[in-house]
Amino acid sequence: MRGIPGHRGRLSPEQIRQAVRRPSNHVSGTSAVVIENTHNGAGGRAWPVDEVDAVVGICRELGLGAHLDGARLVNAAVAHGVAPARLSAGFDTVTLCLSKGLGCPVGAVLACSEGHIEKARRAKQLLGGAMRQSGIVAAAGVYALEHNVDRIVEDHARAVRLAVHLDDAGLHVDLEQVETNFVLVDVAAHGMTSTQALERLAASGVLLSASVHPGVLRAVVHLDITDADIAFAGDAIASALRNQAPHAAGWPAIAGHANTEM
Ligand SMILES: *Cc1c(COP(=O)(O)O)cnc(C)c1O
Repeated sequence: MRGIPGHRGRLSPEQIRQAVRRPSNHVSGTSAVVIENTHNGAGGRAWPVDEVDAVVGICRELGLGAHLDGARLVNAAVAHGVAPARLSAGFDTVTLCLSKGLGCPVGAVLACSEGHIEKARRAKQLLGGAMRQSGIVAAAGVYALEHNVDRIVEDHARAVRLAVHLDDAGLHVDLEQVETNFVLVDVAAHGMTSTQALERLAASGVLLSASVHPGVLRAVVHLDITDADIAFAGDAIASALRNQAPHAAGWPAIAGHANTEM
């Protein structure tokens, strides 16, 4: 696997063309291209239809397979106002997580041709992925697809509201980044490491996650998060992180302070 540097989580057909390797006696050739929509590391950014089509187009031209990691495909589709099927058109294989924005406790879907499904079933078995009671999991997935797709716009609206709240409070957030249900918060700009900030936030009753970027945390909005939660989180995050002058080394003893008013 070779990563290609993206812009907002997206790459151009030209980058793919240049990255393709022909097989030689000690180098394996490129066989497939994988893209992720929405793109986690970029902050839940959503690839638009025309750029997705361009990736599929270059794959067809170069004879490469095309896989869509659509763990958050429904978020991307909702963000662009198109059907998930439209954003998946032309890919050989597509995966979708039922356990993220769609709200299931567990489960994922692989969509592809019959030939690929046969191979995938065999690979799943070889990797110990057998599950005889999968109907229970599938039932939750069917429910989620029927009830939890249209409401994803609410998650996106709440993410924007959280980002605006934090921006108004003087925190380092990039409002343009908020295309779906993620808000990235640059805590390094407030003089903290991700670990330090996570500890302060946890003490204030808010859980964020670390991201792939050092000093940048990720807030995720999902179907269990209400408007009241957004207001609470906005205030709690702002008071836990704001006005912290950067420190070259060490950190004053402030643990426990942030949650005294909860
Ligand atoms: C979560 C995730 C996966 C794995 O999904 P499962 O539902 O655990 O199989 C794959 N790709 C991305 C981008 C993810 O975020």
